[in-house]
Amino acid sequence: MRDYTQQLEKEKLEEMREIVITITGYMVLPLYLIFWITDIVYAPEFAWEFLFLRCLVIPIALTANYYIRKATTLKYAQNVSLTYVISLAAIINIMMIMMANPTSAYYTGLILITIGALGFFPWTRNYFILVVIGIFLPYVAIVYSLNPTKEDIVDLVVYGFFANGTVTILWVIQFFRERLRIKEVSARLELNAEIEKRKTVENDLILARDQALQASQAKSAFLANMSHELRTPLNAIIGYSELLQETAVDDGNDEYVNDLTKIDAAGKNLLELINGVLDISKIEAGQMEVSIEQFNLQEMLQNVEVILAPIFNKNNNQFILEYDPDVNIIKSDETKLRQVIYNLASNAGKFTKDGVISLKVSKISIYDKSWLRFDMTDSGLGMTVEQVTKVFNAFTQADSSTTKKFGGTGLGLSICKHFCEMLGGDIFLKSELNIGSTFSVLIPCQLDKDKNLVDADVLENVLLKEYT
Ligand code: ADP
Repeated sequence: MRDYTQQLEKEKLEEMREIVITITGYMVLPLYLIFWITDIVYAPEFAWEFLFLRCLVIPIALTANYYIRKATTLKYAQNVSLTYVISLAAIINIMMIMMANPTSAYYTGLILITIGALGFFPWTRNYFILVVIGIFLPYVAIVYSLNPTKEDIVDLVVYGFFANGTVTILWVIQFFRERLRIKEVSARLELNAEIEKRKTVENDLILARDQALQASQAKSAFLANMSHELRTPLNAIIGYSELLQETAVDDGNDEYVNDLTKIDAAGKNLLELINGVLDISKIEAGQMEVSIEQFNLQEMLQNVEVILAPIFNKNNNQFILEYDPDVNIIKSDETKLRQVIYNLASNAGKFTKDGVISLKVSKISIYDKSWLRFDMTDSGLGMTVEQVTKVFNAFTQADSSTTKKFGGTGLGLSICKHFCEMLGGDIFLKSELNIGSTFSVLIPCQLDKDKNLVDADVLENVLLKEYT
């Protein structure tokens, strides 16, 4: 900000130097020659006195010129110019007093020139208004009190302007031009300062982003290692608790079966959570690989239906699986697709009671390529618009009370989204509170690792068209 003010001052000083030096150096002689001629024409009785007075301006102008050239600060230059302008105005006022004829057109011209002299310089503009109020208005009042005729007034205006007023008008125009230029310069400097400020902020942001990325990658690598270390002993716990359950049943130790079942269920929950964390950290660290292979989708769907049956039965839901007959051999990552369907189905089973859950699989064409569309629809809890916008974020649950009521980690949908993108497609959600939800997955039938994939916007448009 300080730099900006200093720069602005420097520019203003330069500008002032230019104006004052031009006027005092090059314009003063020709201007005063013209004035003196007008003096002879309009006020011949004072011609010599006026010439003397006007000539006084020359040494004043040259002195001002010298000091302005030497000026190093704006304040100093302003003071010199003000002194110059005031001396100029004083001389003109002496001329007016000498004439002492307020109804003379020449008098009007002199008044105009005084005003113009002060109004010309941007740094004396405050005085400009004062001069207009202090000199011009009383002058007009005096003229009116003398009851001038219409012709007198016309003479005053016309000759007044022609005598010295034309120059004044030019000066006033110049004054406003300079004011505009100063404004423009200030605006430009302000803009530059703003750009500089933003550049600094941008650099800081880039640095912060890089640091955050590094930290995030380190965190993901750590989690990936930790999750692996946790899974091994956990699998042992689950395995042994299942073994002990069977032994307890065989030996008739029924009192232990209940506790062992709890250990087994808790272990499995924990394993699910760790798997989720492992998946998400692998994805974030860029270590999740896609393994593309050919497989029969119909067979996979039938398989999944069998595995999912207990989930749907638990809440007394009816499950309907529908697929187009031409849905068969596809090329994709079977494990990831299976996990996506499994996650969506378990969510639907979890958040729906005594309802209907359906999975519809169809083949569609996008840009002349075959795509698969999976619609997992349920008639369960549904979500609000606000919830819909955040469910795909990791560790986010549509409603924080969900964890208490239904358990879960808030990772499932985030992983699904990442997986769908890895499979060359995307996932979309349409939901209405208390009515139900439809998760739609779009993936290409033939996934090719090196092929450029279709934008999510295009896919969403395809879906929206089909929805309506
Ligand atoms: P979680 O392990 O908590 O289920 P998800 O990422 O799978 O994590 O789901 C995030 C949240 O989205 C859930 O907690 C739930 O609030 C909401 N949600 C997901 N699927 C459905 C659904 N079919 N119906 C209603 N809400 C759902």
